[in-house]
Amino acid sequence: MDYLRREGGVSVVERIVIFGATGDLTGRYLMPALAKLYEAGKLPGGIRITGVDRRGWEDDEAGFRRLVLDNLERHAGGVSASVREKMALEVVEYRRADVTDAESVISALGPLTGPILAYLALPPAVFAPTIEALKAADLPEGSRVAVEKPFGVDLESAQNLNRLLHEFLPESAIFRVDHFLAWQPFPTIMGLRFANGIFEPLWDRNFIDRVEIVWEETLALEGRAGYFDHAGAFKDLIQNHLLQLLCLTAMEAPTALHRRNLRDRKVDLLRAIRRLSPEEARLQTVRARYSAGKIGERSIPAYADEEGVDPDRGTETFAEVTLSIENLRWAGVPFVLRAGKALSGFRGEIAVHFKPVPHLAFQRADDPRPNVLRVGLEPNRVTLNLNVNGPYDPFDLEQIELGAALDPQEFFAAYEALFLDLLEGNTTLFVRADEAEEAWRVSEPILDAWEKGLVPLLEYPAGSNGPAEAPAEPEPSRSGAGREEPTPWAR
Ligand code: NDP
Repeated sequence: MDYLRREGGVSVVERIVIFGATGDLTGRYLMPALAKLYEAGKLPGGIRITGVDRRGWEDDEAGFRRLVLDNLERHAGGVSASVREKMALEVVEYRRADVTDAESVISALGPLTGPILAYLALPPAVFAPTIEALKAADLPEGSRVAVEKPFGVDLESAQNLNRLLHEFLPESAIFRVDHFLAWQPFPTIMGLRFANGIFEPLWDRNFIDRVEIVWEETLALEGRAGYFDHAGAFKDLIQNHLLQLLCLTAMEAPTALHRRNLRDRKVDLLRAIRRLSPEEARLQTVRARYSAGKIGERSIPAYADEEGVDPDRGTETFAEVTLSIENLRWAGVPFVLRAGKALSGFRGEIAVHFKPVPHLAFQRADDPRPNVLRVGLEPNRVTLNLNVNGPYDPFDLEQIELGAALDPQEFFAAYEALFLDLLEGNTTLFVRADEAEEAWRVSEPILDAWEKGLVPLLEYPAGSNGPAEAPAEPEPSRSGAGREEPTPWAR
């Protein structure tokens, strides 16, 4: 297939090995995305998809295939029943291995006759031993390794993962996944920022007052204590997804959307973010967890009482940080990043707040609302608030909203795009080694201050707008209480 060789001599992967094959990510996104590609004829002919987990199945292969088929029925309804069945029965196979035991990984891989793509859809705690096992397996030339987020739990562990990977793979064969990069906001922001003469001249401290990048959800823990209680809202969302969106929003223009150029610009931006001192962390960050409350008709128990949660761990379900970017373009402009669970309504967007006009000729309109450009992350839409004269009074102002709904993207479409890039060997929309480490350099002073107790863990009732320190007024685009979550996309 042409696209598989587009990068010039990139070898064709003959097997995709998914470690963590029975996990939530694999069932809801990876397998459906692969089924869609299989149906469209975009997987290399004769490819095998090997699922690996440690639990084992009574009748091994058949049990696993039934699980895959069930998941495809639930999450890949758009794929025809015959293709779903063919994929589960003829393309997918099962191997049992504990990834912390290199010998069991090697025997699960079996004889390797050509390049493979190893996808680590595993808890971050077992990334390192899995990578070590893959090194011991002596993967054939042209093999690739994809690692899910969060890449490490701190700077040291991210550096360690990079070191382990680089011991046996070139950077061009390493794919650190952040699915927000393959998702709809990426092309929307790129297009808005870099293909419109009207925004680029305004895109700096002279015209922009502040920027908010938020992911506030009505979803509570939803049974994911095993993962979330060790991560918290900051590591789950801000440290990776929201920092990536900050990069796209604030970086300098790349000369081309090329793997090196784009990622260089993102790294420049991450390096320009001020590392917070303990005192700044105290003043510029908020952490909190939800107490019992109601979201619409749903009663939500306190986070500390949720099954599997260790209340003494002090995991935050709401995190907010205000960052500054120390460069000529952005000096003095606050960038607020916020992520929260069990809130009153869903809001996922980048909101660029422009400065008000320096002089207003309308004596009675003493409080014009500033222009705000919003890039909706979910749903996929762009809006711009403008002030116009009210209908009958030339001295009054009214704010209108120009909006456009963009094509909705199926939940797993980001993973479809990621798999195509993985098969092509195109790393542009994946996180580079230095980028992953810089993101931790920004995050560590904040997490250190939290660990030392310099920032109190506040509480907010489930179903509220968050702790008192967070904005009390819902933003105009926050949807109403109890509204169904569009997608449990960000984890
Ligand atoms: P789950 O807990 O649902 O699944 C984890 C998987 O890893 C299971 O298949 C489990 O198998 C397997 N596993 C764990 N330990 C071992 C081991 N020692 N040996 C072999 N297999 C093991 O996690 P998720 O699927 O939710 O998440 C996986 C990764 O994807 C995480 O890094 C997460 O951050 C990331 N991610 C998840 C998203 C989501 O929506 N779920 C979205 C974006 C990223 P077994 O049950 O047999 O132990």
